[in-house]
Formats: sequence, structure tokens, C-alpha cells
Amino acid sequence: MTDTPKSHGRKSISATLKPRELMTHAPKLAGIWTAKVITLFPEAFPGVLGESLTGKALKDGLWQLETVDLRPFGEGKHRNVDDTPAGGGAGMVMRADVLGRAITHAQRDAHGNWPLIYLSPRGRPLTQAMAQQFSQADGITLLCGRFEGVDQRVIDHFGFQEVSLGDFVLTGGEIAAQALIDATVRLIPRVLGNHASTEEESFSDGLLEHPQYTRPAVWDGRAIPDILQSGHHAKITAWRRAMAERLTKERRPDLWRAYCARHGRDPDEDQEL
Ligand code: SAH
Repeated sequence: MTDTPKSHGRKSISATLKPRELMTHAPKLAGIWTAKVITLFPEAFPGVLGESLTGKALKDGLWQLETVDLRPFGEGKHRNVDDTPAGGGAGMVMRADVLGRAITHAQRDAHGNWPLIYLSPRGRPLTQAMAQQFSQADGITLLCGRFEGVDQRVIDHFGFQEVSLGDFVLTGGEIAAQALIDATVRLIPRVLGNHASTEEESFSDGLLEHPQYTRPAVWDGRAIPDILQSGHHAKITAWRRAMAERLTKERRPDLWRAYCARHGRDPDEDQEL
């Protein structure tokens, strides 16, 4: 807590507050990166984001989380949020009028560079570069779909960008939202204690990360590679880079080709290890 900036106008935050309480009772902190999540399941948040480094950063006011419960914006006595698909077919679709009200409410105090994101299997797959961009915004608003998804007019009207967690179908956008927020929040300065660790890890230079080892030096007859115990920093750095390149070439030819193009290398060159 000692390095919490004074500028956000909060003197101290009780260490006993749980992340969920922080979400519901904390005063809005102007100028702090904020994730607004529009969902039918606000109790699913902060979820895993309340743990470990993202949870501590939430408690320390390095970012904030706000959920917008869709239910109160529903129609009629039962606050319905969905209806049958126009044109027929299975399942239900989330209504444009209900979503429109909730989104307008969420955006009332969203100012500046503030991407609107609909989590969707039709979206652009989430990448480290996208997380980097989101972390540099003032905040983001995430719309979590359920059922068959949302009425297209909402996406068009508000200009949502669609982001996918991958080529598979989830039952709702909440897990995807938490994954996106996690990947983004850890890039906000000071969220990870040791910021250098984001510079060397997978994808930071378009390569997958080298293998990692720790004690014991020998486990189950397997030793840590000698070079990592040599104390020779230049050699260790070279070994790690070579391993990262080899892994990327073997596992992700798409990333490898892009990396070679950026560095003027021949993707088919033989690797010396
Ligand atoms: N009928 C839709 C799937 C709906 S799944 C289709 O075929 O495209 C219900 C909700 O889960 C979606 O609205 C979306 O918000 C979320 N979801 C499902 N798969 C996802 C994925 N791969 N990435 C991000 N969100 C996803």
C-alpha cells in the first residue's frame, strides 16, 4: 500500500474489505482504470479477479470494477431480458431495449478512451496486443451475453467491438470477461510487483516463453539445465532466447513467421542450440 498514489483522493482502504465489498461500496475513483461489466450474474464478480495480484491491486485502488446487473432493466413484472429469435429457431436472444437501457446507464460516467466490448465467439480472438491497448484506455465496458447472444442492433448502435476468448462456445460471457480483465489489469503499471516480468514473458516479443525451473536442482532424476546454474548471465539470456525461438517455431508457426518477418529473419533457417 505504500506506493499507492495520493492523487486518487482516497486516504486509505481498510485491509479487511473483501473485493466484493470494495466493488459495491467503494466510492468511484476518478482517473482509475475501470472495468464495467454488464451481466445477468453480477455475483460472479470479482470471482478469480479478487485473488492474488489482481485482487490486491483492486483492494489498493490500482483499478476498479463495477458490475451492472441487467435484471433491473428487464421488461414487465418478471423483468424479462430475453425473447424468442426473430425468424424462429431455438433458444432465446437478449432484448435490444433492455440492453440499451443497461448500456446507457453503464456509460453515464465513462469518459475518454473507453472501448465497448461484447464478448462473443464471433469476435476477434483476444491477444496480448489487444490487452495492451485496453490497459492504456481510461476504462472498458464489457457486455456478457447469455442464451443465443444479443440483438444485433445493440452491437451496431453502440459500436461494440466483438472479442472472442477462442474458437469454442461458452454458455455466457462472464468467464471470457474475467479472462480479458485479468490479461489487461496485469499490464497496468504497479499491478505486478516486478514489472520486468511482463517484458520477458510469452508474447511480449511475439515469442512463447522459454522453460522455467526452480529448486530442487535434481528432481526425480531430472536435473535443471547446467547453463541455468552457471551464473553466466549472457549465456543464460542467449539460451533462453534460443529456447523461446525453438518452442515458438515448433508450436506456433504462425507466430514464428510473424516474428521472423519483423526481425528480417528466414523462418526456415536452422537453429543452433
Ligand atoms: N449463439 C452464439 C453463442 C452464444 S453463447 C453463437 O453461436 O455465436 C452465449 C454467450 O456466451 C455469448 O453471447 C457470449 O457473450 C459468450 N461466449 C460464448 N463463447 C464465447 C467465446 N468463445 N468468447 C467470448 N464469449 C463467448
